[in-house]
Amino acid sequence: MANQQRLDKLNALRQNYSQQLPQRIQEIKSLWRDLVNGDKKPDLRQNFQRLIHSLAGSAGTFGYNLISEKARIIEHNLEKLLGKQPPFSVQENVQIEHSLDELQQLLELGLTQQPLACSVVSPIKLASKKTDTRLLFVLENEPEIAQEIITQLTIYGWQVRVFEQSQQLSSALTIELPSAILVDIMLSDNDVTGTEFLSAYQQTLKEAAIPTVVLSARWDWQSRLAAARAGVSAYYVKPLDFVALAERLDKLTQQDSQEPFRVLIVEDEIILAEHYAEVLTQAGMQVKTCVSLEETLLSLEQFEPELLLLDLYMPDCSGTEMAMVIRQDERFNDLPIVFLSTESGRQLQLSAMQSGADDFLHKPISNADLVAAVSLRATRFRSLRQLIRQDSMTGLLNHIAFKLQLEIEISRHQRTQQEMAVVMLDIDKFKQVNDVYGHPVGDRVIKSLAQLLRKRLRKTDIIGRYGGEEFAIVMTHTAEEQALQVINMIREQFGKIRQSTESAEFFCTFSAGLSMFPNLQSVSALLEASDQALYQAKAQGRNKVIAYAAYS
Ligand code: GH3
Ligand code: MG
Ligand code: MG
Ligand code: MG
Repeated sequence: MANQQRLDKLNALRQNYSQQLPQRIQEIKSLWRDLVNGDKKPDLRQNFQRLIHSLAGSAGTFGYNLISEKARIIEHNLEKLLGKQPPFSVQENVQIEHSLDELQQLLELGLTQQPLACSVVSPIKLASKKTDTRLLFVLENEPEIAQEIITQLTIYGWQVRVFEQSQQLSSALTIELPSAILVDIMLSDNDVTGTEFLSAYQQTLKEAAIPTVVLSARWDWQSRLAAARAGVSAYYVKPLDFVALAERLDKLTQQDSQEPFRVLIVEDEIILAEHYAEVLTQAGMQVKTCVSLEETLLSLEQFEPELLLLDLYMPDCSGTEMAMVIRQDERFNDLPIVFLSTESGRQLQLSAMQSGADDFLHKPISNADLVAAVSLRATRFRSLRQLIRQDSMTGLLNHIAFKLQLEIEISRHQRTQQEMAVVMLDIDKFKQVNDVYGHPVGDRVIKSLAQLLRKRLRKTDIIGRYGGEEFAIVMTHTAEEQALQVINMIREQFGKIRQSTESAEFFCTFSAGLSMFPNLQSVSALLEASDQALYQAKAQGRNKVIAYAAYS
């Protein structure tokens, strides 16, 4: 969005607020009159207090700083009166009355709103998504090696295009840019060397952020230094270890996978909520707003926020109470909760902290401060959660995180009543791999399957490393037939991955069992059924996918 457009949007919100302001103040004054006249309506005091509080919190955000300060003074004076019944003393009456008049005057002067100063915050560096074609250009003049590269890397989702001559690659680069380039150092006798070729293109490739990898027959310091000088990111020696190469290519081309932060705003003052949402959205975040506890609890599951921005003062329950309710659920135990409030009383802050808040931001808060505070905490949450939830060897969800995620998916699917498949998957005769080739080679086989799963399944599917050589998958919104088809395709591809050691090459297979939601509806029932089906697949000779059939 252009800067002007962003400013326009924020300005529209301000204007909207300005239009509401006279009526807000009118309402406050009329409630005050009722109070003083001894009106016995229930909630009268509370409503009055809430309106004043809201005004103090919102006016500053939209540039009415004087009004905000005045409202804060009234709020402060009110606290002293809170315990009392009207009639208030003359002096008390006068105090509040006077402040209310001042509010009105400030409004009538119409001069209180300050210009929108540096309100537009540039997007933070997030989500600069390249089109994810995974196109790989390869410069290789030996046909057998070229063919093997095509076969193996295609399995990992690469679209491979091979060139025999450097001249051909040069002209291809004028037409289309790949995600990465793989070059053999030794080319035909009449050609340049791979390193020379990359040297010539070094600047261009760097500017286009295209990583380069070389293949060589030798691991000597001269060639490696030459490659480094040509800006090469990775160096591999033949025979190629495709698992390692595929993993490296993934890492080298990965910068584009950063998703925007998800922030949930809970604020009863709709126009303020809209303002915060707009500011954070403009900074590249994904934002949802809620006004009630019920809505918030639902959004926690459906939207999976990485940070909760919570108003301390809400009509149906306080922010503190809401935080306590959220913390009761272990799934949201580590979710950062940041209170946004006008409350400056130490005591209230302290009790909010005890209820599980992580931080306090004070209204009004500048747009830049809001963006900085939110992105800082969301970043920390993301990396911490990754550490806790990830299996370090494969980067997939670990056992516990997988089960928690499955539970979340079950509640989601319960609402939509859509089907979902749960798959258990186990590498065949894996003990033999370890026994024959050693544990490190076994580890690489596990990694190759993890990579394949990540590449072949959708972003919305959930993949976990369930145990040593066992994986579990949730295929969201998927019917049984479709799920079987996908897992079978992956099974065939896995069987084609050439697993290599320095001295040998071999292939592995896996077996899988599958069960369906809503046929079964609990985490344990689904996992057990899939496990039984997996057991059958093993018993029937392995390298098979079997669907659980014994639903009652
Ligand atoms: P089956 O086809 O019946 O599944 O045969 P299997 O040999 O795969 O069966 P089993 O479950 O008995 O063996 C799994 C082996 O996986 C045993 C264990 O040593 C090995 N393993 C578990 N975790 C790891 C790991 O992280 N790395 C490696 N290299 N091996 C592991
Ligand atoms: Mg509020
Ligand atoms: Mg096993
Ligand atoms: Mg096994």
